Parts: sequence; structure tokens; C-alpha cells
Amino acid sequence: MARPSDVFLFNSHDLPRRPGEMKEYSFDITIPERVGIDVIAVLPGEDIHCEMRLESVSQGVLVSAEISAIADGECMRCLEPIELDINRHIQELYRYEPQKAHTKAERKRAREEEDDLDEDDDLMMDGDIINLETPIRDAIVLDLPINPLCALDCQGLCPGCGVKFSALAPDHAHELIDPRWAGLQGLSAPEDGGPA
Ligand SMILES: [Zn+2]
Ligand SMILES: [Zn+2]
Repeated sequence: MARPSDVFLFNSHDLPRRPGEMKEYSFDITIPERVGIDVIAVLPGEDIHCEMRLESVSQGVLVSAEISAIADGECMRCLEPIELDINRHIQELYRYEPQKAHTKAERKRAREEEDDLDEDDDLMMDGDIINLETPIRDAIVLDLPINPLCALDCQGLCPGCGVKFSALAPDHAHELIDPRWAGLQGLSAPEDGGPA
């Protein structure tokens, strides 16, 4: 049984491991699980389209890709469904797995390379396999708004009846009187109507 994240694995076996070699690929990843944040995400069953270029470099494979997808969510103010086009560029270096060090000099170099590695950014190949999940997820999540809106000027819902303001008459209002204001009105009534 395949794990859900297996869809993000890309086999680079046809890219020769000679610095300067390059290949381009165009493909879709159909995701089995949502990718995004609570309020908006690319939904399960949707495709993430990738235009990807792989380049052999001395330490590994440099991945450059344009990814595009459509995220679905709802407006934070009026709850209307919204769709958002996502277009992101990603670029990551996937290092070859460290080779067994044989000589003293190789061991020294391996240690130095380890020190150079940025811990957060440490993407490794697994044989010929490149796992695109982390960069794709990060790129999509970073592109999503925390407060998605159907329109920047969305007026939201009328608190009185729950209908979208944009669907209501401009002078729409409710005769709702806050109990505290009702009390004040009672106090001021004699002044308004009574003798001076
Ligand atoms: Zn809205
Ligand atoms: Zn209303």
C-alpha cells in the first residue's frame, strides 16, 4: 500500500550524473491529501502541475520548478466559496547521499561538507529519488492568505440576518435595540416629548 506522500517522489534515473547535464519534465501530481492551511487548501484529488528542470551539479541535483494549482476555501467575512490560483517557483539542491569515505582526506572532506550543510535546508536524494513534498508544500502554504477574502472590500454578513451585505438593499437595517440603549431611551423620553 503506497503512502500518501509517495506521489511526491520523482525518479531522476534518466538524468546523467555529470555536472552540466540537464533535463526538463512536465507532469501533474494528483494529491491524496489536502495541501494548505485550515481555511484554504489544494484539495484531495486536485492536481499540482509541475514544469521542472533538473540539473546535475557536483554535489547533487538542482531542481527548479514552476508549480501551479488551484486552492479552494471560503471568504472569512461572507463564507462564499473562493478559488485561488497558485503559481510558485521553487529551487532546491538535492544532495547525493554521502559516499563511503575511504581515505583520510575523504573523511575530512565529508566532515567539512557536513558542517556546511544548513540543517533546515538539508534535502537529500534517496538513490535516484527526489522527494518534492517539502518544497512543494512549503511553496503552496506560503502563497496562501491567512485571511482569504472573496474581494478585498467584501462587506461580510449582516449581523442581524446573516445575509451578505452585497445582496441586501443599501439602506438595509434591523430595528434591533440593544437592551442597554433601550433603557437610556426610556430615560430620555420625557425630555423629548414632555413640556420644557
Ligand atoms: Zn466575502
Ligand atoms: Zn440584516
